Amino acid sequence: MNVALATDLGRIVGPRWVRARPAELAAYEADGLPTHASRPALAVLPGSRQELIEAIHLLHLANVPFVARGAGTGLSGGALAGNEAVLVVLTRLNRILHLDPKRRRAVVEPGVVNARLSEAALPHGLYYAPDPSSQSACTLGGNIAENAGGPHCLKYGVTTNHVVALEVLLPNATLVRLGSGSSESWGPDLVGLFVGSEGMFGIATEITLRLEPIPAAVRTLLAAFPSIRTASEAVSGIIAAGVVPAAMEMMDQACVRAVEASIYAAGYPVDAAAVLLVELDGTAEAVAGEAV
Ligand SMILES: Cc1cc2nc3c(=O)[nH]c(=O)nc-3n(C[C@H](O)[C@H](O)[C@H](O)COP(=O)(O)OP(=O)(O)OC[C@H]3O[C@@H](n4cnc5c(N)ncnc54)[C@H](O)[C@@H]3O)c2cc1C
Repeated sequence: MNVALATDLGRIVGPRWVRARPAELAAYEADGLPTHASRPALAVLPGSRQELIEAIHLLHLANVPFVARGAGTGLSGGALAGNEAVLVVLTRLNRILHLDPKRRRAVVEPGVVNARLSEAALPHGLYYAPDPSSQSACTLGGNIAENAGGPHCLKYGVTTNHVVALEVLLPNATLVRLGSGSSESWGPDLVGLFVGSEGMFGIATEITLRLEPIPAAVRTLLAAFPSIRTASEAVSGIIAAGVVPAAMEMMDQACVRAVEASIYAAGYPVDAAAVLLVELDGTAEAVAGEAV
């Protein structure tokens, strides 16, 4: 089955973009979840939306299950495929199709790496807010499937708050459009249903995202505490005072000491029981007011 299927998929995407040998497939038998591994029957890497559609159509007709994969950094094992399934790797679909600075929208293919979008938007004074720590590697398609968050999601929300429309390839190779890139969509929130569905409903083939203006001012504060409790109470106090920092992270003493012993040493107080990092952003006046 694998040889015939590999040949047929190779006719669609080109033979070099079908991985069938055990050594090639070893690269795809794990993702960011270290406790699980599973080698797929084949891995196919389409180079265009049309190739992807044709590959899924073929798998549908052959009744072969498939699993989508972005960068494989997911922590839920979602990008693992069983040995009867084909892994559909989307990293070659990595084009930013359209960037509209006036409407603050970007239309991207699913394999665009998260951080690349903010880099492309930077000259327009814009950025893409959801910033998982893996953003230099993970793809926007994977972010959609996992509803990824990051430090700045405290103020700006997680992925679902930034997706306005999707084109989705269903398992039977039918394309559907969810949401609206131009206005609020009506009816049930199908974009919201798809975001976070871990690839179970289909493959996001085109993603329309909201971009944010880069804040005029950013200020980062460091506060050292004698206990985890007092640091935690400070977090509650900040939120209770109505201040929503762009990001807020706490490190305990073990973490601070580990950082200070590494190449990332930044001068954190190693005697503090806990350290709070608070990032404020907004207008210069608002940041100055909140920092007091
Ligand atoms: C060091 C590290 C730090 C991390 N930090 C964070 C963090 O701060 N916040 C956070 O939320 N996560 C974090 N993660 C987890 C991970 O990076 C995110 O879940 C990310 O969104 C996964 O993207 P990916 O491209 O690697 O997806 P993959 O791991 O390849 O796939 C993840 C899931 O998405 C599905 N999928 C992929 N592409 C598509 C598509 N186009 N359409 C439909 N389904 C698709 C897959 O089938 C799978 O179920 C971290 C992971 C690591 C290793």
